[in-house]
Amino acid sequence: MPQTDPAAAEIRATGTARVHILHDGYAREEADGEHVGSTVTLIIDGDVVVVVDPGMVSSRTALLAALADQGVAPGSVTDVVFSHHHPDHTVNAAMFPAARVHDHWAIYDGDLWISRAADGAELSPSIRLIATPGHTEQDISTVASTADGVFVCTHAWWSAEGPEDDPFSPDPAALARSRQRILDVASVIIPGHGPAFVAHPDVPGFPLR
Ligand SMILES: [Zn+2]
Ligand SMILES: [Zn+2]
Repeated sequence: MPQTDPAAAEIRATGTARVHILHDGYAREEADGEHVGSTVTLIIDGDVVVVVDPGMVSSRTALLAALADQGVAPGSVTDVVFSHHHPDHTVNAAMFPAARVHDHWAIYDGDLWISRAADGAELSPSIRLIATPGHTEQDISTVASTADGVFVCTHAWWSAEGPEDDPFSPDPAALARSRQRILDVASVIIPGHGPAFVAHPDVPGFPLR
């Protein structure tokens, strides 16, 4: 039965957003312990400058340098998006003092708490949020329509290598539905802890295989 997905229907196949990954995420065990880095992504569409998941990085200086390489000052970032509330994706939000912060149920602007559901929220004509529960019940994905197709920043995948089943998921069926929803619109997936990858059937957890 055809499903209607009003939020997805608003997503343009191409658009004016530009996407640049500031920090490739990772999660690896080393001799001194577990190292976790968030994939941190910059999306620019006109006057809107978004940083997605300003979480754990090995070097804040390197993160700022990556931002400067794109001609962006920290104070020029207008919006920060949290894919979900885990600290590895949120701890560095205050590096962007002028930014509004978006999560699954609100926008935080200074001391103003603006309740709203994220699904279908528009940050700019080519940047939208969709609800993609699965890794946590509060996960959202940031969808950017670019000249090269639709890029989706999401923690529905840790990386292109897996894990196929998210070990932290409270609801694997919801995760499978969210992955399908993302793959219905995505050209490129930018996962929580790995480099970007093209959406294709060899991806672990691809719901159609
Ligand atoms: Zn998490
Ligand atoms: Zn994570």
